[in-house]
Amino acid sequence: MMRQAADTADSSWMLAAWERGLREDPLDRAVTLLCAVTGLRREDAERTELGDRDAVLATALERLAAGTAVWGCVYCVGCGEQLDVPVRPAALPRGPRYDPARPLEVEVAGVRIAFRLPDTGDLRALAGTDDPRAGRWLLLARCLPDGVDGVDEEAAAVIEAAMEKASPGAAVTLAVDCPVCAAPTVAALDVPALLWAEVQTRALALLREVHVLARAYGWTEPDVLALSPARRAAYLELAAG
Ligand SMILES: [Zn+2]
Repeated sequence: MMRQAADTADSSWMLAAWERGLREDPLDRAVTLLCAVTGLRREDAERTELGDRDAVLATALERLAAGTAVWGCVYCVGCGEQLDVPVRPAALPRGPRYDPARPLEVEVAGVRIAFRLPDTGDLRALAGTDDPRAGRWLLLARCLPDGVDGVDEEAAAVIEAAMEKASPGAAVTLAVDCPVCAAPTVAALDVPALLWAEVQTRALALLREVHVLARAYGWTEPDVLALSPARRAAYLELAAG
């Protein structure tokens, strides 16, 4: 099916993000996408909590995908088979968001524990940790301003539940049964990766259009990108005929 072409505004951020994202790892790429969509500075994008980050990226994905499903990729826990799962961008959660004016805290056994929500910088700090248990406590240590001294398993679970409640968009999962071995897999949905795949596809399609029209009419890249999608499509048709 032919998709609707990206509009002019989308074209410029998409191409800039694609060019930079090509040589980045997934965490840097998520920051690049957020900066491209919002105009945030990198250090602010880095500190944007994951639910907010993914809500913004999901909205950009929804606009680019224009009503079509995109494909999320998970690996079967049973046999390792790669499973492509259709995801509707419109169905991705966008809130409820926490109120930034109110401090985030929980009360466990009469003790108040303040916390903040994880951001991309936290994920970067965890990247070298293979042990999930160590990773969990490292994340908590980063997100509790008063540290994890005196925080036990019970308190940790309460804090994690409160984090998820404050930012449900940061922990979206995809559930799928493997068609090969029938094992059920529940995997975290990677919104930046979904948007990146879409940006890559569309950036390459856009460059192909620039190539065809630049050759046919002697236009420059900015000339072609400045055309509305309808005009671009019409000229492409003329150039092909
Ligand atoms: Zn399987």
